[in-house]
Amino acid sequence: MEGTKPHAALLASPGMGHLIPVLELGKRLITHHGFQVTVFVVATEVSPAQSLLLQQATTPHLPNLVSLPVVNDSILVDPEASVLEQLLSMVRGSLPRLRSAISAMKVPPTVLIVDMFGLEAFKIANEFEMLKYVYITSNAWFLAFTAYLPVLDKLVETKCSDLQEPTRIPGCKPLWVEHVFEPVLDIKNEMYHAYMRMAVEITMADGVLVNTWENLEHPTLAAMRDDKLLGQIVKAPVYPVGPLTRPIEPTDSENGVLDWLGMQPSESVIYVSFGSGGTLSAKQTTELAWGLELSRQNFVWVIRPPMDDDAAAALFTSADGRDGIAEYLPDGFLERTKKVGCVVPMWAPQAQILGHPSVGGFITHCGWNSTLESMVNGVPMIAWPLYAEQKMNAVMLTEELGVAIRPNVFPTKGVVGREEIATMVRRLMEDSEGNAIRAKVKELKYSAEKALSKGGSSYTSLSHVVMDCQMMSR
Ligand code: UDP
Repeated sequence: MEGTKPHAALLASPGMGHLIPVLELGKRLITHHGFQVTVFVVATEVSPAQSLLLQQATTPHLPNLVSLPVVNDSILVDPEASVLEQLLSMVRGSLPRLRSAISAMKVPPTVLIVDMFGLEAFKIANEFEMLKYVYITSNAWFLAFTAYLPVLDKLVETKCSDLQEPTRIPGCKPLWVEHVFEPVLDIKNEMYHAYMRMAVEITMADGVLVNTWENLEHPTLAAMRDDKLLGQIVKAPVYPVGPLTRPIEPTDSENGVLDWLGMQPSESVIYVSFGSGGTLSAKQTTELAWGLELSRQNFVWVIRPPMDDDAAAALFTSADGRDGIAEYLPDGFLERTKKVGCVVPMWAPQAQILGHPSVGGFITHCGWNSTLESMVNGVPMIAWPLYAEQKMNAVMLTEELGVAIRPNVFPTKGVVGREEIATMVRRLMEDSEGNAIRAKVKELKYSAEKALSKGGSSYTSLSHVVMDCQMMSR
């Protein structure tokens, strides 16, 4: 085997938020660490809106991209099932195809790397005697919380959300229940049990990769390496390998947004986007429109029809979302803001936008990929979490790192009013407070670059994985 490249099989569960970091990990293993990589993408029937997203995810640097159709689609259509349950059953439904794809290979890959929702595929790695790694596409704090759930489970009788005191996970800042995604805390909820299972499955891994870097979350990572602290819970060695984000590649700028940005002054534009699927209520959409207008700042807004407006929501699934925008925005908004604003329906080339010199702020739902993309481009944020672990991310960005401000009340608890939005945008874009935040995020940008460069902490972490794989290949 000596001289042959180690072969990594990567499994990406559905959703752009998983696919993007898995692809970036694959590219990095190829370009910096001499791997052969096959990425298996769990695919299912996609809506027109999703297929638009997938088109944007073309991957010229990855030689082997294998789509894994889900074997039994009927398991997907339970409309009562939570998004997480649907996701897990899609992965489950794709496993027979993964097994046959691997058994058709002359030599099985050395290692199987799955994201957190692909842990069930570990049994296939066992069958073929492959190493098995999980890649947490979020941060170390979230990994710590997930791994700690079985400990919390022993402490509470009915609901973790009944806990009056913040949870003190070693190496982490105290975690208040209001900052955790609710269903994960309710033992009657299916999601609670799914996360508990994942917590156990993570301990079976030969290694845990995390899309973070040493300097960003040192105390948490150090606690994970300490057998008296989190090390005894996580068990597997933890490797911070990030931030792995999409590079800024040339685009045909289908929306004209990059051309528009090219005409704006440096750091003058606030970019507004809620991830690959985030939507706001009709009321919140109206307030956000007014808030942006009142702020008198330049903006790019990736807009989606409000999901609680049936007529508008139909646009989300039936078209590219361009039609009918004016109907769910305040009267005359597009006309009044046409000189200062660029409204992009549904999907925008976010990596390019955040890397553009005209962009000086980001209203973000705090999805971890968006957060990292903002940090690596030195763009300060307004934290507007919606679901999953985003409230925890928002707390980290505001209270721990000081690279974001956030509304007084989390948007999940009510509507953020236009005045508050306008004030936050001006604080970030115009005030000295914004300058201080900008300086901090720029420090993170340099720290991230250092971590990824040869000899840096993330580079070295991934080299350890390479060594494990080389030992296995011998
Ligand atoms: N994204 C994009 N254009 C959009 C919306 C999202 O390119 O209009 C990308 C974004 O750059 C990020 C990913 O989709 O890489 C979203 O991942 P994130 O973890 O931020 O949020 P999620 O979509 O998983 O909630």
